[in-house]
Amino acid sequence: MTFDRKNYISKSKRLVVKIGSSLLTDSKKRGIRNRFLNHLAAQVEELNDSGIQCVIVTSGAIAAGMFEVGLGKRPTEMAKLQALAAVGQSSLMHRYEVAFKRKGLKVAQILLTAEDLSNRHRYSNAHNTFVELIKNGIVPIVNENDSVAVEEIKFGDNDTLGVLVTHLCEADLLIILTDTDGFFSEDPRLNPKAELISEVKKLNPKIEKNASRSISTVGTGGMRTKIQAAKNMMKSGVPMLIANGNQPFILKKIFNSEKVGTFFHPANKKMPSRKRWLTWSVKPKGSIIVDEGAQNALVNKNKSLLPTGIKSTNGIWEKGEVVRVVDVKGEEIAKGISNYSSREVELIKGMKTSEVFKKLGRIVTDEVIHRDNMVKV
Ligand code: GLU
Repeated sequence: MTFDRKNYISKSKRLVVKIGSSLLTDSKKRGIRNRFLNHLAAQVEELNDSGIQCVIVTSGAIAAGMFEVGLGKRPTEMAKLQALAAVGQSSLMHRYEVAFKRKGLKVAQILLTAEDLSNRHRYSNAHNTFVELIKNGIVPIVNENDSVAVEEIKFGDNDTLGVLVTHLCEADLLIILTDTDGFFSEDPRLNPKAELISEVKKLNPKIEKNASRSISTVGTGGMRTKIQAAKNMMKSGVPMLIANGNQPFILKKIFNSEKVGTFFHPANKKMPSRKRWLTWSVKPKGSIIVDEGAQNALVNKNKSLLPTGIKSTNGIWEKGEVVRVVDVKGEEIAKGISNYSSREVELIKGMKTSEVFKKLGRIVTDEVIHRDNMVKV
């Protein structure tokens, strides 16, 4: 059975709306646009009234910080950006609070780092917090904790954060609001004849190539990170929309099934929550290198990973942590939760299950990684 945009949208009861920095700042760079926030609050209120729960992922902390300290150009140095985010986040949050309060809505600030979402325990704590807030009619306003996240482990851009938050709070739809009407056949800033693509059922290399880099002076990402986000959402089985946040009542138009923006159709089957976490949120602690037999069993036969197919390991991990599975050429083929620590895997690699007991004096499970706790890359 195939669904169209209308089917997906009418079934959406919880959505994540990502707001880009360019929407929050005016073209003359005089400050955060309170009018935009007031209008957003009015739309969220309307959706709430019709039983649709909203989570906001907002950018704009660095941009707001630039206004606060009177900086015209976005710096590139990490420490400066982090300091600006610290200044800007509180003033940004204050604006949200004021705008939403006028509509009788309470907001809550959630700042996340990639590490928070990589750890299963913290991930489920964060999930519970979201559920509790939403249950109580409070609108979570999420941003990356820019002031403490170090470069190597940053989400990097809020389009990616939007994807992870959609999975984290089990939302049915991700809407990325930006300052263009959607995704175009070519960069509309360079070619005025570029056409808006209203539906994407499948991504191809041409589409990915057309997703140009942003030239925004206040945010990061541009279309490139939005298309990457769409790729992830489509694979996970959850729909995504890119639309123009400057269009009046854009969220209402989307929920009235007007053909606005670009709608990305999801894969038919929704990936289970644990597999989505494994695929996008987790940072593996090490690698297990497997032989061709195991590679074939994992990739083509959907089997679990047994000690017998393991050739070697890289890195140190404890039982229950996530590792990469790589082939003999070093190509990643899967990711999964290891039932054994790296020390144990080193001791039992290449062994038959019957030999494992003799070596370790115990068997936790036959599988080093069970197929239910594994995702293919
Ligand atoms: N987290 C950054 C901020 O709030 C924005 C990142 C982005 O624009 O993608 O300023």
